[in-house]
Amino acid sequence: MTETEAAAAVAAPEPVLPWHAGLWQQIEGTARSGRLGHALLLCGNAGVGKRVFAERLARALLCRTAPGAGRPSFDACGGCSACHYFEAGTHPGYRRLALDTTDAKSSIPVDAVRDGCTFLSMTSTNGSAKVLVIDRADDLNGSGLNAVLKTLEEPPANTHLILTSETPAQLPATIRSRCQIVRIAAPTSIAVATYLASRFSTLDAAQRGAASRYAAGSPLGAARLLETPEAFDKHRAWSAQLDELRAGTLAASTFANSISRDDADAFIRFLTVTAWHEARGQTVDGRETAWQAVMNEALAAAAKLAANGHVPLVLDSLLIATSAVLRQKRKA
Ligand SMILES: [Zn+2]
Repeated sequence: MTETEAAAAVAAPEPVLPWHAGLWQQIEGTARSGRLGHALLLCGNAGVGKRVFAERLARALLCRTAPGAGRPSFDACGGCSACHYFEAGTHPGYRRLALDTTDAKSSIPVDAVRDGCTFLSMTSTNGSAKVLVIDRADDLNGSGLNAVLKTLEEPPANTHLILTSETPAQLPATIRSRCQIVRIAAPTSIAVATYLASRFSTLDAAQRGAASRYAAGSPLGAARLLETPEAFDKHRAWSAQLDELRAGTLAASTFANSISRDDADAFIRFLTVTAWHEARGQTVDGRETAWQAVMNEALAAAAKLAANGHVPLVLDSLLIATSAVLRQKRKA
């Protein structure tokens, strides 16, 4: 099994996400009027369900049932052979590329991208459509982007290329300008709370609210935390330790030593998000508030880790700086 086949095999159907409803209707209208582009760029924050949306769209585009009785909406019928193949992860006209996070590569291998583009360019034997999803075009390197650009410049007939991106502004303008841009808006906090309440009805509201905060309001990020109690408990412990650091009852170095190397990235994300939440609406006379300073320290620490900085040193200096600005704020 090749890398791309492996990615397709794990593409199990996902539930429909409620905050996608309006956008899905728009896409349905666009598709029905024949204005759906060959290439789409699905943009949105982490955890808004870009991959879920891309796969729902891919299923709909590949479904062989004509709109009508057996298929009342644009959504795939779920009953035709194409739908069965898709759900089994064996649809010959579908590929999904994503960075394999289990290996050390920092970008999607260019060979896999070229393979995907070749797959699109070959005429399908049964005349059905083909869809290539590149989940997180942000993970393409220069060569990968070039391969994608070639496909965008000469789109093969009856094919669809769906790119997702968290940071579309960082993609080359040549790519963006050749795609139909589809923005998935972040759901409101009420919509996130409703979604989490329906999925995790046995947990209490405070726990769901905490997960939502830890995940910066990302519904799927919060859901992942609630699904993995170990990760949730870590975040809760960090939150309590941060309070102690602020109160001066916990030393920065003790806090830093309690964080494992494996958790360093997650902790820095947690601190960035917490500081971002706390800093909102706190600008005083245009000066940087303490929490804004913490957020900047955390972003700088993330950059150091990305550049292979020494983990204990990075965490130590981050928490010393955090303690200093937060305790100064308390005295003020
Ligand atoms: Zn179908």
